[in-house]
This record gives sequence, structure tokens and C-alpha cells, in this order.
Amino acid sequence: MQEALIQKAKKYIANTYNRYPIVATRGDGCWVWDLDGRRYLDFLAGIAVCNLGHVRKEVLDDLIAQAKKLFHISNLFYMEPQIKAAEVIVDYSFGDKVFFCNSGAEANEAAIKLARRYSWKKYGKERYEIIVMDNSFHGRTLCTLSATGQKKFWEGFDPLVEGFTYVPFNNIGALQKSMSKKTCAVMLELIQAEGGIYVADKEYIKALRTLTKEKDVLLILDEVQTGMGRTGKLFAYEHFDVTPDLMTLAKALGNGFPVGVLVGKDNIMEAFEPGSHASTFGGNPLAAASVYATFTTMVGEGILKNCTEMGKYLHTHLLSLKKKYSFITDVRGKGLIWGIELSIDGDMVQREFLKEGVILNCTKGTILRLVPPLIIGTEEIDIFHEIADRVFERFSKDTGSKADRLI
Ligand SMILES: *Cc1c(COP(=O)(O)O)cnc(C)c1O
Repeated sequence: MQEALIQKAKKYIANTYNRYPIVATRGDGCWVWDLDGRRYLDFLAGIAVCNLGHVRKEVLDDLIAQAKKLFHISNLFYMEPQIKAAEVIVDYSFGDKVFFCNSGAEANEAAIKLARRYSWKKYGKERYEIIVMDNSFHGRTLCTLSATGQKKFWEGFDPLVEGFTYVPFNNIGALQKSMSKKTCAVMLELIQAEGGIYVADKEYIKALRTLTKEKDVLLILDEVQTGMGRTGKLFAYEHFDVTPDLMTLAKALGNGFPVGVLVGKDNIMEAFEPGSHASTFGGNPLAAASVYATFTTMVGEGILKNCTEMGKYLHTHLLSLKKKYSFITDVRGKGLIWGIELSIDGDMVQREFLKEGVILNCTKGTILRLVPPLIIGTEEIDIFHEIADRVFERFSKDTGSKADRLI
């Protein structure tokens, strides 16, 4: 039954993804079912989206209640759900104001436009450059693609949007050197996620913040993946003792409902006036209801604490797997975002995990990315460990594990 549908998908849907060979039909918490009724443990959560677990009741209830009242009306009107969502984001973040849109790329696009406009108003048209990081990921629109420091995503899309300077991540000297009179902002992820789970150094971020403040250069944090509890704090910047000028959120913001937001300080957000930026759907009543329900659930239910605790628990399991299998070369992350770096083909390993009933993702060819729902418990992590052990054992037969060599 699944195979026929998969063939149909291939016929009708653009070939932009290497999809897993299953038709997903239902989700509940940390689990997903396919069309044949097979159950999978979800360590991907829709790519760090369903942080509260699949079909979270509070979000579902609010969405249904809102859907019965009003789907959409446009940003030409004031909307109660949008006001509530904006207020809760501002209350729990460094920000004063928000701009709603529909995705991570759009939120970053808004941040880039706002940074340029703020600088243009204050310093004139020569100050427009944005420093971004090698190995970063900021989205697939032409502008956010240009901000993304990975050549493989650029292929065939020239000319890119100009005005971006690329520097190595975690290198304050390089950043200092690239800053000039033209620089209006620095934009980065605190954990390069798509890039392979590389965590920023605290000292680097603090130095970067000092440097940007001195020069009135805006600090834009792309928290599209690290925000909304993923690292054990509501926002990853809370781990670094800094606050940004602008921050973008999307992925888990609506726990599965598509929505993005740009959060900023008042004096910077002021650079947007009526007519300078817009979005038809941005923060519509359904999206806003999902944001409010997601936010209030996330801060009210011990979810951040669970994320921190389960993150530590998962980390110890990953370290024991690393000890056992020599092809695991590194394990890194924070909260519930982890990368397992392999010296063998990660796609092949990911496919074996799927056969064994675990959904995870491989990035950069050799790095397994684990981003389970933040509600995960020890029981699910134990299941993951057991399956991971079984899967890795298969590959150790080919490559020779540390254990094999000891014998
Ligand atoms: C996923 C992601 C984006 C892009 O978000 P979309 O919703 O796919 O446009 C941007 N930045 C980061 C850090 C991401 O992880």
C-alpha cells in the first residue's frame, strides 16, 4: 500500500528531498506510525519542530477553538491571538517587539532587511555588510541562501545576494579582522545545527557581543533551531550570558504549525514602518494560537527541566556507544540537540536505524543528528540505546570495533 503512494509522490511532487521510504500517517508524543501501522521512535521530531511531542493536546485544543472562530483576516486588522502571542514572546525574551512571518528563512530575511534598514537610517547607504559564519545555515530563499556559509547550497543559483562576508566560526580574531566601516550586523547560530552540531564557545560569544556593542553593529542570533527549549533553556542565548539585538525563531515555535518570528529591541524594530516589510499570512489567527499554546505549555510544564535532564541522560548513553564503536569519532551537543560524528557513511547508518524503527537524520554525510521531542523519557532513551547498539554492531563487523580489537 505504501509503495503505490510513494510512486505517486515521486510522480507529482518536486524531487527536492531524499525522502524516507515510509508514508507517515499519525503521531503521538515521541512516536510516529506509518501507513502499514508500523510504529517508530521519533528522534527527529519533524526536524526539531514538534518539541512538545506530536499532536500536543494544548496546541490542538487551541487550534480547533481558533479555527471555529476565524482562520485568516490579514495584517490590516488587529487580532487577539496575535497580540497574545506577541506579548508572551516579549515577556519571556530580551525583546520588545516582534514581526510575524511563516518560516525560518522568512524570519532571517526580515532580520537581514531590518539590520540594513536600521543602519541605512542611522549611518547612510554605505553600511550594509553582514558578517556570517562558514558552515552556517540560514534558509533557502535567495537572500538567506547567500547568508548561508556552505558552498554546496549555492550551486546553480548565482548571482547570490551581495553584502555578506564569511568568517570561520568560533574565531574572534577572524571576526575582528573582517569588521569594517561597512559592517552593519553579525548573524550566527549559537549551535550550528544543519552544519553538524557545532556549539559556540561562551568566551567567543561574549567577546563578539562586546565587539559588536562597541561599534553599534547588530548581533542577530538565528535561533530557528536552538530556540523554544531545544537546549534546555527557552532560548540558547541564555546559556551565554549575552542578549542579542535581534533573534529569529521558527521550527518549534508553533509545535508543527508553520510560523516564524523576528524578535527585537524597540530602537531597532522602529526601523520598520508601515510599508517597509510585510507578510500576508504572518501571525494569522491560527498560527498565533499555536504560538501562544506552545509557549505557555513549554514554560509551564517542567519541559525545560526534562530537556536538561534527559539531555544529560542521552549524553551518557552516547558516550558509552562512542567508547564501544571506534567509527564514532565525536559526540557533541547540548540539551536535546546532539550530533554523533562517524567515520563511515551516515546515510547508510540512518537507513538501518529506520529499519529498526528509529527516525533520525544524517547531516553533512557523516553526522547523525538527534533532536527528539523535549518530553522524551528514560524509557525511550533506553530503547534508542538498545537499537543504536544493534545497528552500530552491524557496522562494526565491517570496520572492526574497539571491542573486537581487544579480543
Ligand atoms: C531550519 C533552519 C532555517 C530555515 O528554516 P525554514 O523554516 O526551513 O525556512 C534557518 N536557520 C536555521 C538555524 C535552521 O535550522
